[in-house]
Amino acid sequence: MSQPLRVTIWNEGVHEKTHPVVQKVYPQGMGHQIKSYLDTVPGIEAIAVAQLDDPEHGLTDAVLEQTDVMTWWGHTAHDRVDDAIVEKVYQRVTQQGMGLVALHSAHYSKIFRRLMGTSCSLKWREYKGIGEKERLWLVDPAHPIADGLPEYFELERTEMYGEHFDIPQPDQQVFISWFQGGEVFRSGCCWHRGRGKVFYFRPGHETLPIYYDAHVLRVIANGIRWAAPTRIAGGIRRDNTEPLEAME
Ligand code: ZN
Repeated sequence: MSQPLRVTIWNEGVHEKTHPVVQKVYPQGMGHQIKSYLDTVPGIEAIAVAQLDDPEHGLTDAVLEQTDVMTWWGHTAHDRVDDAIVEKVYQRVTQQGMGLVALHSAHYSKIFRRLMGTSCSLKWREYKGIGEKERLWLVDPAHPIADGLPEYFELERTEMYGEHFDIPQPDQQVFISWFQGGEVFRSGCCWHRGRGKVFYFRPGHETLPIYYDAHVLRVIANGIRWAAPTRIAGGIRRDNTEPLEAME
């Protein structure tokens, strides 16, 4: 039997300390809510919930070395994430193949922008503080991240993100969202970056109970499995190389 995928859940953890609505929706914090779901998923082992205020943001070398896939949620304190830690996460993705699942406002995190190389900015609206309906359409039903999901699902109250989303053209597009106010958004996008894979998934505004939704949680678990590192027997060499065949 193969080893479980080891997942580190990076959760900024600032709104949970400062915003009463967020405290009410996520009394244990968003990261722990995601962990409580992942703890029920066979083949996935959530090894840590790492937060901004932890030493080294919870992303010590020991934690990184054990992590196959990292999820990232940040919003209000992107600038407080240490550049040296961002660089370590970037290297772990691109050189060692760690998967990164970027959630919601992580579109503007240092690590996601570094991996994309574009501004990653977008339109947004938190309609009257209560949000609006979102319908997520599955546009690649053959994709592994689609497994077990219906052709569309809806979130009754959500923050709107709208195009244009300034990202590089995704390698694979899994979901497109429609919003009640009329906008659309590429809400589930996949990229390869070096040895690693990156999945961006849009839902997850902190004042709304998005990470209790069964479809949203299913997408996160599927995204973790898709982004998992591929093991290459003997590793990959990039250096001055002798020919494999006799040349004369
Ligand atoms: Zn938000």
